[in-house]
Amino acid sequence: MKKQIAILGSTGSIGTQALQVIEEHSDRYEAYVLTANNRVEELIEQARKFKPEAVVIANEAKYNQLKEALADLPIKVYAGEEALCQIVTDENIDMVLTAMVGYAGLKPTMNAIRAKKAIALANKETLVVAGELINELAQQFGTPILPVDSEHSAVFQCLAGEIGNPIDKVILTASGGPFRTYTLEQLATVTKAQALKHPNWDMGAKITIDSASMMNKGFEVIEAKWLFGVRPDQIEVVVHPQSIIHSMVQFEDSSIKAQLGLPDMRLPIQYAFSYPDRLHASFPRLDFKTCTQLTFEQPDTKRFRNLALAYEALDKGGNMPCIINAANEVVVSAFLNDRISFLGMSDVIEKCMQQVSFIEKPTYEDYVATDKLTRIMANELI
Ligand code: NAD
Ligand code: MG
Repeated sequence: MKKQIAILGSTGSIGTQALQVIEEHSDRYEAYVLTANNRVEELIEQARKFKPEAVVIANEAKYNQLKEALADLPIKVYAGEEALCQIVTDENIDMVLTAMVGYAGLKPTMNAIRAKKAIALANKETLVVAGELINELAQQFGTPILPVDSEHSAVFQCLAGEIGNPIDKVILTASGGPFRTYTLEQLATVTKAQALKHPNWDMGAKITIDSASMMNKGFEVIEAKWLFGVRPDQIEVVVHPQSIIHSMVQFEDSSIKAQLGLPDMRLPIQYAFSYPDRLHASFPRLDFKTCTQLTFEQPDTKRFRNLALAYEALDKGGNMPCIINAANEVVVSAFLNDRISFLGMSDVIEKCMQQVSFIEKPTYEDYVATDKLTRIMANELI
């Protein structure tokens, strides 16, 4: 029986690489559902090639185009946010890969957990916004959450065979992004074109900006807390510009385990699909004949304030990580539309963290309200 996989966000960077993994291992995996937000042409092409049971386009205005283009195939076609949240509960789905961007991933992920679908989690925003709630649900329904983020996949791989051995420290590596060596003065005038040029990874626009501003690493610190049950002071970030060591774990006896490889998301995607097995991979491999230097630096939270703000949100808990996520989504979108400067993004985020009402034990409804309120405030501040 092939594993039936639903890909939320199949037209994106993670989604398309996941389809490459499915294609390479078509004896094991099948794309059961494909979904996209807007890019209907790509979704049509994918559907004609992979012949999923169903496709969903979030933007309802694109429904007719999608329906007509697939009329000759027995593929169910749906549109809208609600359809996206419902489709993940289909009884034939074994695993849901959450590869959509942002807060929009929260509700479908919650539904998939309740329907006991294994979650391959790329959408880190879900854990940033509501990590506690997601963990409670996963525990209640006995649903496994497998990390796809390369750092967390690395930690997960380091933890294989270590059941019962407490973690001393999780050490997340960060490339440092395109502005690693920039001064504050230089950062003040960087453009979106510069920020969109990541030195090591080819990713969607939002996460590429988050990487340049180091909010991505801040979010990964929060993600690590919920995935691995560690305290904030047990999560360390080290800048490693080559992106060869994907992250590390230090144990009580001081031993550090690391996971290495070329920067290629197909490996963590494939590992989430195949865990606990390892499968053959045809993509390029790390070769120490050409990789001759691995270097490390300490992160600088004066130049990259977002990393400090994310630690602050994690320490504070409650709805604070939800506030930082919503404010960040608004400022990143504004930065991509030339409506705010690179450093201005952190100012708005910090103000939102100070001004939106704090809730210590938020319910799902509180998260929805916090997200909405923060977006209004962030837009006003811009
Ligand atoms: P992307 O922008 O390339 O693709 C996003 C996909 O989600 C597209 O298919 C898009 O149609 C869909 N989508 C976007 N907004 C949506 C909405 N509101 N409703 C429904 N569908 C929507 O993004 P990406 O780089 O593939 O990143 C996806 C997720 O994976 C993000 O949460 C990101 O942080 C995480 N991630 C990505 C990488 C990477 O290498 N790209 C690495 C680690 C984690
Ligand atoms: Mg990552």
